[in-house]
Amino acid sequence: MPTELAITLDPPSTDAELLQSCARLGEALASLAGHVRAWTETLAPLRPAPAALDRLHQAADAIAEAASATARAADAFEDEFGDARHIAARGLAITGHGPHAQSPRPQEGGHPVPAIYTTARQYQCPHGCKGPYGKVTAIVPDGTGLPVTCTECGQRLTPTGRAPLAGSWEIQPCGNTLSCRRDPGKCLSCKGTRQRVVCTTCQASGCDGVHNFCLACDGSRTVDCPRCEGERTVPADGEAEPVPCPDCEGRGRVTCPACRGTGKPPR
Ligand SMILES: [Zn+2]
Ligand SMILES: [Zn+2]
Ligand SMILES: [Zn+2]
Ligand SMILES: [Zn+2]
Ligand SMILES: [Zn+2]
Repeated sequence: MPTELAITLDPPSTDAELLQSCARLGEALASLAGHVRAWTETLAPLRPAPAALDRLHQAADAIAEAASATARAADAFEDEFGDARHIAARGLAITGHGPHAQSPRPQEGGHPVPAIYTTARQYQCPHGCKGPYGKVTAIVPDGTGLPVTCTECGQRLTPTGRAPLAGSWEIQPCGNTLSCRRDPGKCLSCKGTRQRVVCTTCQASGCDGVHNFCLACDGSRTVDCPRCEGERTVPADGEAEPVPCPDCEGRGRVTCPACRGTGKPPR
């Protein structure tokens, strides 16, 4: 990974240093989010499982979210220092605690009782638009009538002629990721509806209910070592320091027992 992601955060001795550190942290996080996003985009031609891509998108969004939380923290500090400066005439002015410590976070919408839908249909753009991951499509559970729109041209998506899909889906509020807040119409998860259709089996949005990967390991072929819980080391009798885990030889991961390392659904 690129070296510009390495940052040192020293305990600040002045408010100016604290704000500088916030800025550096924010830049590093924003840069990391950009790297993850760009890298995820390069994976599209490999046609990975939608669940995997969706999670990488969520990871990039979460890091970008962390960058903006850092900016909000800097704002909150600045508010505080604004008053403190008058009193302390600059310099050491970290006033600590107070309501600013919790910078305002948008309230997540209410939590409707989740209904489970067992049939769904695939929708597509009538113009056949392509997005970053191929044709723009959406999974819409029967009976929900979600007004999904094309993330490229904005047209309402229409059902494909294909047979209904069987699976298990629920509807969750979207709008929590940066891309959705910026423009739900371009949100790859909700397609403008602010309602994500989530597969309850694999927790991915956009899943068509067909799982051609092992759910125990997400198709990654390995799982956290049960003995060391992925920590790579275990305490040893008579030793002050933990020793490398003998079960996973210090790797922290072992072959997925459910799929025996194939990454495919166990049969
Ligand atoms: Zn379109
Ligand atoms: Zn959304
Ligand atoms: Zn699924
Ligand atoms: Zn282990
Ligand atoms: Zn597996």
